[in-house]
Amino acid sequence: MGKCMIIGCGGVASVAIHKCCQNSEAFEGIMIASRTKLKCDALKEKLQPTTKTVIETAQVNADNVDELIALINSYKPDVVLNLALPYQDLTIMDACLATKTSYVDTANYEPLDTAKFEYKWQWAYRERYEKAGITALLGSGFDPGVTGVFSAYAQKHEFDEINYIDILDCNGGDHGYPFATNFNPEINIREVSAKGSYIEDGKWVETEPMEIKRVYNFKGVGEKDMYLLHHEELESLALNIKGIKRIRFFMTFGQSYLTHLKCLENVGMTSIEPIDFEGKKIVPLQFLKAVLPDPASLGPRTVGKTNIGCIFRGKKDGKDKNYYLYNICDHQESYKEVGSQAVSYTTGVPAMIGAMLVMNGTWNKKGVYNIEEFDPDPFMDALNKWGLPWQEDFDPVLVD
Ligand code: NDP
Repeated sequence: MGKCMIIGCGGVASVAIHKCCQNSEAFEGIMIASRTKLKCDALKEKLQPTTKTVIETAQVNADNVDELIALINSYKPDVVLNLALPYQDLTIMDACLATKTSYVDTANYEPLDTAKFEYKWQWAYRERYEKAGITALLGSGFDPGVTGVFSAYAQKHEFDEINYIDILDCNGGDHGYPFATNFNPEINIREVSAKGSYIEDGKWVETEPMEIKRVYNFKGVGEKDMYLLHHEELESLALNIKGIKRIRFFMTFGQSYLTHLKCLENVGMTSIEPIDFEGKKIVPLQFLKAVLPDPASLGPRTVGKTNIGCIFRGKKDGKDKNYYLYNICDHQESYKEVGSQAVSYTTGVPAMIGAMLVMNGTWNKKGVYNIEEFDPDPFMDALNKWGLPWQEDFDPVLVD
């Protein structure tokens, strides 16, 4: 039993909060603290009558370390679960350090002015967290998150050595709009308009955005086009999984999404460089976010399934072995259960599980760690229990 402070009250946080409330044996109390307190209060009003978990709410600007410290000191959580935006990772980590409180997030730090996805800023806290006797669990969403847990599980139980990992993220959902993003549009567009990259023989290989395309037939979804993207977990998995020769990440996109994105890019709407507009500085991408459908509004209209997982190739007992671990999640079932579509669901459930395992001491290494550095078994059990059951394939179709 313990108390968790959840920072942010958007798409992912809403699912994690629903899940904490379903799991009141572990979460005796949660505080929902975000920029817009109204959203926190609305969720409390909906969920408090359904749960034994005691819900409190607060307004906080997570860019301000002192405000965060004061709030953490007043609530005294066992763990802080950061579900705000990647820009707030370091201020929240600073506040956790100052108050000696463990920290969990789902996305690595990004500076506002450059779309860079690297762990170096957060890894720099390792020694200080170790000395403070607290844990930082980095990347406890689906990807990063479950993909790292799957990799640790494959390494522990199925292989002597893993040489190749392909992470395949398929969203077969249809929301009926010509263009919308399934999670925060700013973060999503920054990710997909960046150059692609993968790791081969210990080195990054860079590609043009969307340069490498493959077609894959996903169980539960069917055939989809998928594109190689840079993704943050490649950096940590290449270090933490033994024997890796190559690791790649693919995500599916429909043609309508890509055509719209290209057009928005061509006219400058995806830029993160501020421009002058009627005497005011505005960031085109932030303006675009304001005119696009709110990802939260997609829930009721999205049908179909996601299929996210990892294909591993390596050696077991001297023989070549292939192994695919994946989860299929249904958008409408997620919506019925927690009022959000599957993209938020597949991130919010692992966020709750990561916070639970740190809070109850099952994962208690002191310092700053990526998720694949912990014992995967309790997390794998919890995925089955809390709504993201996994499936195995010992003879998967490989990606060339
Ligand atoms: P949303 O935009 O829906 O929610 C973000 C929340 O953070 C909002 O409630 C927002 O407040 C709040 N917030 C933003 N800035 C501040 C601030 N300075 N102080 C306090 N609160 C703030 O995003 P998502 O829920 O889609 O994403 C949340 C996180 O999850 C992101 O970091 C994203 O990268 C990550 N993610 C990870 C995935 C994975 O698989 N690992 C997949 C998908 C997302 P307000 O309500 O006022 O706007």
